[in-house]
Amino acid sequence: MTGLGAYSISIIGAGVAGLTAACALAQRGAHVTVLERAPALQDVGAGLQLSPNAIRVMDALGLWPRLEAASAPSHRVELFDTAGRLVSRLDLAKHRPNDRFRLIHRARLIELLADAARSAGARIELGHEVTDLPEADLVIGADGVKSRIRPLLNGTETPFFTRQTAWRALIPVEPGAAPAAQVFMGPGRHLVSYPLADGLRNIVAVVERPDWHDEGWSHPGDPADLRAAFARFGGPVPGWLAQVDQVSLWGLFRHPVAQHWQRPPGDGPALALIGDAAHPTLPFMAQGAVMAIEDAWLLAACLERDDLAAALAQFQTLRAPRCQRIVDAANGNARNYHLRGPTRAVAHAGLRAVSKLTPGLMIERFAWLYDYDPTAV
Ligand SMILES: Cc1cc2nc3c(=O)[nH]c(=O)nc-3n(C[C@H](O)[C@H](O)[C@H](O)COP(=O)(O)OP(=O)(O)OC[C@H]3O[C@@H](n4cnc5c(N)ncnc54)[C@H](O)[C@@H]3O)c2cc1C
Repeated sequence: MTGLGAYSISIIGAGVAGLTAACALAQRGAHVTVLERAPALQDVGAGLQLSPNAIRVMDALGLWPRLEAASAPSHRVELFDTAGRLVSRLDLAKHRPNDRFRLIHRARLIELLADAARSAGARIELGHEVTDLPEADLVIGADGVKSRIRPLLNGTETPFFTRQTAWRALIPVEPGAAPAAQVFMGPGRHLVSYPLADGLRNIVAVVERPDWHDEGWSHPGDPADLRAAFARFGGPVPGWLAQVDQVSLWGLFRHPVAQHWQRPPGDGPALALIGDAAHPTLPFMAQGAVMAIEDAWLLAACLERDDLAAALAQFQTLRAPRCQRIVDAANGNARNYHLRGPTRAVAHAGLRAVSKLTPGLMIERFAWLYDYDPTAV
């Protein structure tokens, strides 16, 4: 593929969005430079779930064999109550046998994408914090939730604190761990855990809490606070939390999906936003990284088919409604996981019944999400 040979493209940010875009664009012949402020592509982050809609893109980029080796399969999503009793099960392996759901450490995904981008000819400049717009035909803001490019297109916006904070931790995985993402739901809190391919188990634990000010990924936390917050949980949770010796804490903020994702060339270089820079999401649909991968592919595909201005307009038209729907669904899940009192009892009874009587129906509700094929749009 050499369709974009005429373009020089600067991408700000070597996260999942920026590196996937670098790969997709460089494979199509564009001259791509990725500018990343971190001095190294560090071992940061924890686990990510990748659903089939993202894996179709990884396949199209020729990265499936490496992704398969670096990740673990997810065969089920299971919801439990505080005591550890099963409330509902989405049997992905049974009801969507042709689809691939994978669990991966963020750092492994970043490594894999960076190698692929470099092999396709992209240059990655580390330790380069962007303060002014680089010179290029197109500058892509893949610079995450605190994007510098987003305000150029949308003005200043103030995110809103959801009154929820989350701990992230990694522990050694137990032998024979179920290949499943498991969610334990209690009043005002829930905990998600799944095994990764690196001999690790990923834990994300969310609680409602009024006091938090900063948005970011790497605030150190205290494992004792995490254990105290989930002291009433049963099943495997106490055993897992006993092993946590290091934990980080982050505040969950809600941002609107950007109103303006792009600017045609004219007054400076053309601009486009992808990933968290355009649509930061709460983590409750596990689609943050997935949307970033979908964006990256579709931006490259639009650029290949149209002139720059038309391609950028088409990109936003294709992406904004879908990302809005996903962000809304994640906001909804934040409420559903944390129900209290009688509402909780009724909701869990309903889920148990549906899960038992029509197990396929639960997964069908997510067909709009998982059936989407960015490579066929
Ligand atoms: C450190 C970290 C850990 C994460 N861990 C998890 C996790 O465990 N689970 C999960 O679901 N999601 C996690 N996420 C979020 C998830 O990866 C994102 O939702 C998704 O991957 C979208 O990624 P992105 O590339 O849009 O943004 P990001 O992953 O945030 O990447 C943005 C990149 O831009 C760089 N950058 C920002 N500003 C500048 C600048 N001015 N100049 C140059 N570079 C700049 C940043 O250093 C960063 O590398 C994490 C994000 C980060 C940054």
